[in-house]
Amino acid sequence: MMLPATLEEAVEALTAVPAAVPVAGGTDLMGAVNAGLLRPPALVGLGRISELRGWRYEDGGTAVLGAGLTHARMGRPDFAALIPALADAARTAGPPQIRNSGTLGGNIATADPTGDTLPVLAALEATVTLAGPGGSREIPVSHLLTGLDPMRPGELLGWVRVPLLHAPQVYLKATGRSGPARASASVALVLDPARRAVRCAVGAVAPVPLRPLEAEAWVSGCIDWDGERGIDPAALTAFGEYVAGACVPEPQGLAEPGGAVPGAGDETASPGGPPAAAQRLRRTVSVLARRALGRALK
Ligand SMILES: Cc1cc2nc3c(=O)[nH]c(=O)nc-3n(C[C@H](O)[C@H](O)[C@H](O)COP(=O)(O)OP(=O)(O)OC[C@H]3O[C@@H](n4cnc5c(N)ncnc54)[C@H](O)[C@@H]3O)c2cc1C
Repeated sequence: MMLPATLEEAVEALTAVPAAVPVAGGTDLMGAVNAGLLRPPALVGLGRISELRGWRYEDGGTAVLGAGLTHARMGRPDFAALIPALADAARTAGPPQIRNSGTLGGNIATADPTGDTLPVLAALEATVTLAGPGGSREIPVSHLLTGLDPMRPGELLGWVRVPLLHAPQVYLKATGRSGPARASASVALVLDPARRAVRCAVGAVAPVPLRPLEAEAWVSGCIDWDGERGIDPAALTAFGEYVAGACVPEPQGLAEPGGAVPGAGDETASPGGPPAAAQRLRRTVSVLARRALGRALK
C-alpha cells in the first residue's frame, strides 16, 4: 500500500505502478475485495492527501471541492449553507460509518446508478478536474459518468467544481425501506435565478442521472421570477408528470441496473399499459419532482 501525501505524489505512484488501484474511504473498493471480485496487486491510499479533504472558493462564484471530502463532512451545516442539495444527498448516503469514510470522489468514480451525489452534480452542471501524468484536465461530470470522456490510465479525480447559486436547492430520495438505504429513485432540483432557470436530474432510474431538459425549460417559464417565485399548483403537478414521463420510459425500454425489466412478468400489469412496477416508478419520480420544486419555491 502506497500512502502519498499530495495529489502529485499519488499520480506519480499510479504511474510507477500502473496496476495499482486508488483507494479513498474504501467503502466500495474493500467491499469488492472482500467479496473476491477484485484483487488489486497494489493500492494507492488517498486518505493522507489533506488538500483533497476541503474546499475553496474561486472567482466567478464557484466552489472547488476536494475529492476526499467525506459524506459526513458535506452533511455539516457550513457546507449545507453553500450547496444545500449536495449536503442533503450526503446525509442520506448510507449509515453513519459509511458516511464517515465514503468520499465524494469515490462516489463519482464508482458511478453506481444509485450514487446519491450524482444527480445533484448533474443538476448543478458540475465539472471535475482529473490529474494525470500529462497534467490536469477539466471535464463535465456528465461526460465522466456517461463514459463519453472516461478517466485515463494514471488519472485521479482531484476536484469537483460547482457553481454557488445562492438559491434554494433540494435533493429527495425514495427507498424501498425505512432507514439508510440505496435510492430506488431520486430527484435533485436547483433554482438558478440569475438565468431564470430550474435544473433537475433524476437518479437511480437509469445507469446515469437523467436531465429532463424540456420539462426544465417549460417549468422555468411558469415561475414568477420577479415576484415571490410563485407557481400555479397545477403547474407543479404537471411538472412532476413531465419529469416522470421523460425519465421513466415505457417498460420495454426500461432497463434496471441489474438488467431486469421492472414489472416484467408482473401479474398486476394492466393489459396494454405500463406494468405495475414501472407505473409505481413513474408515480414515485413524479411525486419527488413535484415536491422538490414545491419545496424549492416555498
Ligand atoms: C453498506 C453501504 C451502504 C452504502 N450506501 C450508499 C448510499 O446510500 N448512497 C450512496 O451513494 N453510496 C452508498 N454506498 C457506497 C459508497 O459508500 C459510496 O459510493 C462512497 O462515496 C465511496 O467512496 P469511498 O471513498 O469509500 O470510495 P472507495 O471505496 O475508496 O473507492 C471506490 C472507487 O473509486 C475509486 N476512487 C476513489 N477515489 C478516487 C479518486 N480520487 N480518483 C479516482 N478514483 C478514485 C477507487 O479506485 C474505487 O474504484 C454504500 C456503501 C456501503 C458499503
